[in-house]
Amino acid sequence: MGSLRWLFWAGLGYLSCYCVPRAQAQFPRACMTVDALRLKRCCPPLGRDPGNICGSLQGRGQCQGVQADTQPWSGPYTLRNVDDRERWPLKFFNQSCQCTGPGRPFTGIDFSHQGPAFVTWHRYHLLLLERDLQRLIGNDSFALPYWNFAKGRNECDICTDQLFGASRPDDPGLISLNSRFSRWQIVCNSLDDYNRLVTLCNGSDEGPLRRRPPGTSSERLPTMEDVRRCLSLQVFDSPPFFRNSSFSFRNALEGFDKLGGALNSPMLSLHNLAHSFLNGTNVLPHSAANDPIFVVLHSFTDAIFDEWMKRFKPSNNAWPEELAPIGHNRLYNMVPFFPPVTNNELFQTAEQLGYTYAIDLPGSLEESQVWAAMVGFTTGGALIALAMLVLLLILFQRQRQRRGFEPLMNVSFSPKKYTEEA
Ligand code: ZN
Repeated sequence: MGSLRWLFWAGLGYLSCYCVPRAQAQFPRACMTVDALRLKRCCPPLGRDPGNICGSLQGRGQCQGVQADTQPWSGPYTLRNVDDRERWPLKFFNQSCQCTGPGRPFTGIDFSHQGPAFVTWHRYHLLLLERDLQRLIGNDSFALPYWNFAKGRNECDICTDQLFGASRPDDPGLISLNSRFSRWQIVCNSLDDYNRLVTLCNGSDEGPLRRRPPGTSSERLPTMEDVRRCLSLQVFDSPPFFRNSSFSFRNALEGFDKLGGALNSPMLSLHNLAHSFLNGTNVLPHSAANDPIFVVLHSFTDAIFDEWMKRFKPSNNAWPEELAPIGHNRLYNMVPFFPPVTNNELFQTAEQLGYTYAIDLPGSLEESQVWAAMVGFTTGGALIALAMLVLLLILFQRQRQRRGFEPLMNVSFSPKKYTEEA
């Protein structure tokens, strides 16, 4: 399943960084030679000058030995020494271009879910996709939009013909004919067939995009309160760094940790709930990326991750160096990206990587608690001041009465109103 997914990603866009010439597949085409494969060396020249290995003459990159994570893994992985993704990408190459170019962030079983790499893998994928789209439309300032799915709605507000496609009236599980996505074909969906035939997905059309017909779910999309609670978790991830991790920001964001306590996998929240709500093509990890909504759903997820990074400024060792499931250790090269890039390299604020989100996410639980405490404090202060004022007035009035004065107005204070508010 995983290997099919990475093949699919390869089909979505060519993976490249600045120092590798255009590559239309998993590895740069320039590295698909007998020599390169035998030498396990993928260091093509940039441009026409054969001496410009990895764009080194322009300072874009250098040919270096690939470092692969050597720490032990945890989790249900039984394919040791069989799966090509193990110690990625050493089964194929042990030398590759290491990017150094200025400016861009990426000059530089399941390997991308149910573990810490969930956030970094999807982030890197979006960065590559964004770059591909920039090239495609010839506009370097193009940026992927996000979809704020945390509005607690019971309908998909971006499923309109203008945006991602409304539902088709005569067959509500399909996309409206007025949408540009009505004839959008999905790929790499028939996992059972590939497994039965022991073959890999070749990217051919496998039918139309499907989504849940509107108004047929009792489920609701996540709420801002869910986001707020998730952002109140200070621990990035917790052992066993899997879908049963508790008090883990990552697991809460991914949506296995039902916020507020009880833990079990059918309970979905945030990211998982958004996928599940959309249903159809969106509901299975291997097919979800076929729906263009995947992109905007994940950029919002990334925005929440970024908010957490800005808020808690974690040190590198907030990420497990070892014993996360395979693909999820801190220094693991994310599969299938090439040249290799570790989880650690994407564990930064978006700003450090060269982009930001124009969104204001709600304060964390702790912040609201501090706020509540401050309100309590100031209310308490106001009450004390009020009590002293009342006392002074009583003393003053008594003095007046003693002197034989009648007050001009009957002033009475009742602190009740304030205590109620407090
Ligand atoms: Zn997802």
